Amino acid sequence: MSTVIPIRADTSGCTDVVPLVERGQREVFCGLTGIIWLHRKIQDAFFLVVGSRTCAHLIQSAAGVMIFAEPRFGTAIIDERDLAGLADVHEELDRVVSQLLTRRPDIRLLFLVGSCPSEVIKLDLSRAAERQNQIHHPAVRVLNYSGSGIETTFTQGEDACLAALVPSLPASAAEAAPALMVVGTLADVVEDQLRGLLERMGLQVNFFPPRNSQAMPMVGANTRFLLAQPFLADTARALQSRGAQHLSAPFPLGVEGTTAWLQTAATEFGVAQDLFEQVTAAPRQRAEKALSVQRQMLQGQRIFFFPDSQLEIPLARFVHRELGMDLVEVGTPYLHRQHMAAELAWLPAGTRISEGQDVDLQLDRCLADAPDLVVCGLGLANPLEAQGITTKWAIELVFTPIQGYEQAADLAGLFSRPLKRRLKLAA
Ligand code: SF4
Repeated sequence: MSTVIPIRADTSGCTDVVPLVERGQREVFCGLTGIIWLHRKIQDAFFLVVGSRTCAHLIQSAAGVMIFAEPRFGTAIIDERDLAGLADVHEELDRVVSQLLTRRPDIRLLFLVGSCPSEVIKLDLSRAAERQNQIHHPAVRVLNYSGSGIETTFTQGEDACLAALVPSLPASAAEAAPALMVVGTLADVVEDQLRGLLERMGLQVNFFPPRNSQAMPMVGANTRFLLAQPFLADTARALQSRGAQHLSAPFPLGVEGTTAWLQTAATEFGVAQDLFEQVTAAPRQRAEKALSVQRQMLQGQRIFFFPDSQLEIPLARFVHRELGMDLVEVGTPYLHRQHMAAELAWLPAGTRISEGQDVDLQLDRCLADAPDLVVCGLGLANPLEAQGITTKWAIELVFTPIQGYEQAADLAGLFSRPLKRRLKLAA
């Protein structure tokens, strides 16, 4: 008989944890990186970074593996200018946007993405977006957000992008029946699976962001939303300010997380428990079986997470509870206690959780602890490998479809593969 996992943010686990807070030098990507997965999701959108050559290099190299005849992102390079040259910059931006939209009539949604060179900071991109909206209305909607490394880390770029979209979502009628919205970019394959499970329970669900900008979900007091990604604090706040209610749940990583996440929706919408069991039993059992193979390799291995994507706490919960790994340190760039409540309750009491980063101090702790596996950014992986420590690039955990039952074993594989590689090298 299968069990339903109770979801309670009670006083168990790490609910009351006092994290080790560090505010020093950090080694993380900026929010521009989110463009890599966002442009694949919203297929009629274009992301125009207003930035420097460094920004252009970053997104090109991060997206380097993908060759598109017509990419859906680009950079308007703003070279060094003084304040007196700013009027020209606005004109130049207008010209670049007009050229782009003439060449690409398929674009329906254009994001002007801010970055951190001082010339860009001086520009008022929201004013630029408003002006572009007037020029290109109604064919194209133009919005702006910041992916600057000063204001955002890595996954916060998606949060900024979605939060910028929320005010333009259509309003649902005041008397509309409760509707479920899943918030956060998911790979299409994951979205299809989760939608399939929810629909078999009789639920209609909208995903935000959608695959097409013309299919934006409605929002209002009838909206109940589940977060699919843990890094969407501003987006959640923006949705709440439009009357939507957040359904607190663990994130859909691993069998337990996916079951509890689905259960939260099922409970909210009054799905009969029998039906819930019937819909989830088979994929759950398949995933449990696949995970048991991975557990043999990972059980008892000690893992250290550097802060990177805000996925660290749900991932730590998964590798500990479902794969038997021991948590040495779980670093997160930012700890959102409310969104993480169910996850913290599931972590073993006494887990060392750190928030923010002082990279030298954290490296010292890591080397002293000598974990079996370290999850970290690209910049730290090589130095750690050189010291004999096995690493996993955190960015892969963001770029790979990892949510839901069918992906649970693939997710575990992302942790076991580097250990297997290390064993082979040692043999
Ligand atoms: Fe670098 Fe800032 Fe451009 Fe990001 S936004 S690539 S941190 S200059």
